[in-house]
Amino acid sequence: SKILVTGANGFVAAWVIRKLLEKGYKVRGTIRSEGKGVHLKKIFAEHGDNFELVIVEDITKDGAFDDAIKGVDAIAHTASPFQLVADDPQELITPAVNGTISILKSALTVPNLKRFILLSSTAAVISLLPDPKPFTEADYNEQSIEDVKANGKKANQVNKYCASKTLAEKAAWELYNANKAKISWDLVVLNPPYIFGPIIHEIASPTALNTSTGDWYNSVVRPDMGGKSLDEIAMVGNAWIDIREVALAHVLALQKEEAGGERLIILEGDFSYQNFIDIANALKPSPIPSHTDLPKGNPGKKGKPIFPYDASKAPKILGPELVYHTKEETTRDMLADFERRG
Ligand code: NDP
Repeated sequence: SKILVTGANGFVAAWVIRKLLEKGYKVRGTIRSEGKGVHLKKIFAEHGDNFELVIVEDITKDGAFDDAIKGVDAIAHTASPFQLVADDPQELITPAVNGTISILKSALTVPNLKRFILLSSTAAVISLLPDPKPFTEADYNEQSIEDVKANGKKANQVNKYCASKTLAEKAAWELYNANKAKISWDLVVLNPPYIFGPIIHEIASPTALNTSTGDWYNSVVRPDMGGKSLDEIAMVGNAWIDIREVALAHVLALQKEEAGGERLIILEGDFSYQNFIDIANALKPSPIPSHTDLPKGNPGKKGKPIFPYDASKAPKILGPELVYHTKEETTRDMLADFERRG
């Protein structure tokens, strides 16, 4: 069957497409302009006609996806800005929300569509509570929406992104719930935290890395680039998942009947960047022989897991095929990837 993947040239989407093609699916990817497809056509050349690209210039327009969506069996919507810096929060919120609504509205018109996967985030789940509790699929990041509503451009930078993801996801559930009695498909929402791992999409230089792998690079490989102090690097942490699991989770979310209608927090565990720094320094042989001078940070100093989750639901639904890479494997593969790029 044929799957439409939006934002095909992004870090996550390129891996989702690769995994789908490897599993025998046909894939139609959307990009904003012709040039963004050149590298993808090269890396997926071996899949021949099973991979095609279409241009959707402005995802926020009503009907933008009407052509792209014709004849597909399922959709994975990943196109959405992931930046932790924006002046006006609408720079993030408009494409996130209107893009999601636009493609869902087109999806309502496709006969026999089976499933719609929305790539949301734990950014749409967590809030900073005085008394943190394990967050679950029942939680929405209302705090970020309130901050942006009350403070506009002056809202916390991270909240601007979190609000874009929370509002987009809520809009999706609302539209789906309002129409589900009369449609052939169901909605699955995936909520991963920080995604790390090797890169297959096109980047011109480390400064063009996407937000999550760029943060890893600026913390573990080149802390002098990221403007963080050693103490900050040691203590900064969150939850994480390897990109290859995010890609596989998309495939499983298509395949598992019981995923229909579910919101799924998918994650591997907690990290602090100091964890990754300690692991990078301990790898033998070093995957980066040309820079034996990896930063040391504050060896052994562990950050606190800031955002605890109860992520026990997803493994039950997605099943035992979802085997996680270890921090060691992810670190080795990321360093080897950076080494290869010089
Ligand atoms: P990338 O920046 O690598 O990819 C973003 C993709 O979205 C690109 O294809 C980009 O296209 C497209 N996009 C961004 N803004 C717009 C817009 N205004 N109109 C149309 N397309 C747009 O980031 P990721 O791959 O990391 O992010 C992809 C998705 O994954 C996002 O939805 C993000 O929220 C989600 N996510 C990512 C996590 C992570 O740690 N990386 C964690 C959790 C969720 P273009 O190149 O043309 O700008």
